[in-house]
Amino acid sequence: MTFVADTSLRDRLPDADRERWPALVEEWGVVEAAVADEVILPMARDNAEMMVLSRDKFIDHRREHPWIEDHPERFLAWRMNGDSIAFVPSGVKPEPRPLVSREKEAKLVHAAGLATAVLRTRWSCGDPYCTAAMTREGELLLWPVADAEGRVRCPFCEGPLAAIGPRRQTKQLVLCDMAGAELLRFPIEAGVDVVIGRGRAIYGVGVDSLPAPPERHGRISRQHLLLRLRPDGSVMAVDLGSANGTRIHRAGAPAGDGVRLEPHTAVTLGGHDLLSLARSVSVYVSGQRFPVGDGRTWSGRSEPPRTEIESEGTT
Ligand SMILES: [Zn+2]
Repeated sequence: MTFVADTSLRDRLPDADRERWPALVEEWGVVEAAVADEVILPMARDNAEMMVLSRDKFIDHRREHPWIEDHPERFLAWRMNGDSIAFVPSGVKPEPRPLVSREKEAKLVHAAGLATAVLRTRWSCGDPYCTAAMTREGELLLWPVADAEGRVRCPFCEGPLAAIGPRRQTKQLVLCDMAGAELLRFPIEAGVDVVIGRGRAIYGVGVDSLPAPPERHGRISRQHLLLRLRPDGSVMAVDLGSANGTRIHRAGAPAGDGVRLEPHTAVTLGGHDLLSLARSVSVYVSGQRFPVGDGRTWSGRSEPPRTEIESEGTT
């Protein structure tokens, strides 16, 4: 048997046991980890004989560990029966993608040290030469990052950010590579269009400037796909005449290649639909709901220019 302990366990022990803990670690060969999940799951993935004893259903790990849903029998929780312990199935079952996404996000936001108040604010980078400051209205189109002291920083230049008002209605989009590994999560706010493309990310996301650019990113056009959050909360997508196209995989449609979007024609992206760009990256709407207002309390902002695309396609 292998014991893996989250380091938070030590802090929960009664004082007397905490003193004995280092000796127990030694004696039992306990593996200590800051976050035990990240040790347990790869071990179990690589050893099909291994059982995982935990009450956690690891919902936020389902994307990285799709095998979990295929092997619910390997996940056991425990129940005390008087002096004895019974091991029972922990109740792992397939979970819908938006739930997986929401659980993962809650952890990521927590890990990044970003408070809800930070997510509710629109930010602008103070460095005039920074890519983030070259957006249409100087607004940072990605989430800010937190430094070691918890201060909000620009994800491009790590410089300080200025608050420029409350966010309006916001959803989050998830960008993945074709294997489904997440590359980036980014906000989309009503009235601020986001373009996914290659090169300088002036109006959105430059796929080739990500920390780990996906394979075949050269196939993505400079201005590939426009995304817009409509006032009714739906997300609209428009292929901007890209060379290698955008395909939509509708939820519930038979698995396969999807349907290619007509260029310059708007489609509504449902909660479970997936877009694939040039067979290099995919994008979908995250299940996260943001507790943001409609921004009407903020008066310092003019309406952004809108691109001339709003007629709905039939795809
Ligand atoms: Zn910056």
